[in-house]
Amino acid sequence: MGKNTFTEKQFHDEEAARAWFEAARWPDGPYCPSCGSLEPYKTKKPGLYRCKAKECRRDFTVMTGSIMERSHAKLTQWAVAFTMAASSKKGFSAHQLHRTLGCQYNTAWFLHHRVMEAMRSGGLDLPPLGGKGKIVEADETYYGRAKEPKTTRTSGEPFIKKGKKANARAIVALVERGGSVRSFHVPRADKATVQRIVKNNIAWESRLHTDESYLYRETDTLFASHETVKHSAKEYARGDVNTNSAEGYFSIFKRGMRGVYQHCSEKHLHRYLAEFDFRYNHREALGWNDEARTLAAIKSGEGKRLTYHQSN
Ligand SMILES: [Zn+2]
Repeated sequence: MGKNTFTEKQFHDEEAARAWFEAARWPDGPYCPSCGSLEPYKTKKPGLYRCKAKECRRDFTVMTGSIMERSHAKLTQWAVAFTMAASSKKGFSAHQLHRTLGCQYNTAWFLHHRVMEAMRSGGLDLPPLGGKGKIVEADETYYGRAKEPKTTRTSGEPFIKKGKKANARAIVALVERGGSVRSFHVPRADKATVQRIVKNNIAWESRLHTDESYLYRETDTLFASHETVKHSAKEYARGDVNTNSAEGYFSIFKRGMRGVYQHCSEKHLHRYLAEFDFRYNHREALGWNDEARTLAAIKSGEGKRLTYHQSN
């Protein structure tokens, strides 16, 4: 963060924070999160609305139907959390939030995890990456120790791999050149898993670029073309064939994780990836500034809820 000193009103005045969130979520005025009615009443309680629709009549606030629902945190705290997560350049942690807010660590942890969930784009309705004439790079990396060491291979053979890749958490990333990333934490980066991800998330008209790994063998038939660079022979690019975007993404992720997330448990790794994906997909080079990115994160938190209560 550095230069952001949180002097704006929404970071220390609860009413201002409410107005700030309402403007972010409802640029055209409040609407009922239950039935979508555009004509709610304002009640006497500040920030509390009541739906006018006869069959609905539900009460709601700017937190209802979003990642903030049923939280006891203040809106000023949410405003700081969203802003820090969206505008941090190198990653952002619950510890930083805890120090900035002067709140309990548990509260900061909650806020951070909910903001990460808000940033997660997901579901099966995501359009595929790439398209005609576009290049999508696929690559995999390893980060941190896997909780449950592998003892067998996919084939059932005993697992005897040594070195860095043995029993590390595997991450697969797909990056559309000049566009978005989509990353996945997978229990194991085997051929079946990697090819399923590649197949389900990349438009078939795309050109696929990978290294020479066996994981991508036979993907030629799935896409317009499949071109590889031979890293083992120290070949990093041939013409426009390279995996530099994917490697660049991994390096941002690893640098960020090393700097701020010392204790990321494996079950939450996908959420941390989602946070890095979000920032990458809303980066400056694509026309996003800090403010627009923060608003996008708030918007993206609609219709999502987290249910777990454990801090770890
Ligand atoms: Zn309603």
